[in-house]
Amino acid sequence: MAKTKAPPWTKYGIMLRDVMTGAWHDASAEFTTDMLAAFKDQDEQTVIELADNLGSIGKELTESVTPEVKAIFKVAGKAGVTAWKAHATDVLGSKKAELSLAEYLAELEGAMVLQLGILAETYPERVLHAEILRQLSLIVDNPFARIIDVEQITARVKILMESEHYWESFSYLHVSRLWQSTGVELAHRNGVDVMQVVEVMDKRTCPVCRIFHGTEIRTAAMKEKIDSSLSITDPEEYIKAWPFPRWNEIQLSTPAELTEKNAIPPYHGSCRGTVRFLYST
Ligand SMILES: [Zn+2]
Repeated sequence: MAKTKAPPWTKYGIMLRDVMTGAWHDASAEFTTDMLAAFKDQDEQTVIELADNLGSIGKELTESVTPEVKAIFKVAGKAGVTAWKAHATDVLGSKKAELSLAEYLAELEGAMVLQLGILAETYPERVLHAEILRQLSLIVDNPFARIIDVEQITARVKILMESEHYWESFSYLHVSRLWQSTGVELAHRNGVDVMQVVEVMDKRTCPVCRIFHGTEIRTAAMKEKIDSSLSITDPEEYIKAWPFPRWNEIQLSTPAELTEKNAIPPYHGSCRGTVRFLYST
């Protein structure tokens, strides 16, 4: 039998797989549907045209939500606490099951944004100091970080002290957390029991993300963690609920043990990891 030549759109197939990683975004889901139809008909031109639109997929959420998150970090105070409580009640209340996905996600977004406002506004110095301590502990705990020049670490700490950079990074981190949460909710609603961590694997990938890449996540456990953490009002409890995994805690973990950690990206600021649907049992 003659060897089948790889179709010219194979690389777009790989791009499609990447897009499906974030397929819970409305624009992305629509795009994925179109791409699948095009692949089925083996219409190369359509596949290529659709793939050319890939650039904006996934960035839309970040771009629309990040400025809002940043603004709220700066202005939310007691009003934020009050409004957050109202949102959390709605999200966690008995009406939740009746809400459509879009409504649920809007509530989730509102609750998370306001909750993060509380966190940032109540203890800005605590968030900042925790981040600096994390940087310093990286030097001690992480065998890879030991080879980083002390001047480099100092430069990073200085960047953290400049609030604009700091809030931008913090804001990006939580937009990512919101993104993953919406994916978990959609998996739950579609009966997808198991999800999977997918990291961007290149020379910039850190050791923590490298280990988590491919880890299976149980949707039910993750959803429970997300929903229950929405009711947290104490910033310290929030930080405890979403700890960044440390290299020295996970370096010897088996895949099953990593699943038990019940941890989805982001694993640190600027984390490029995400989660995708894997299978239903
Ligand atoms: Zn990483």
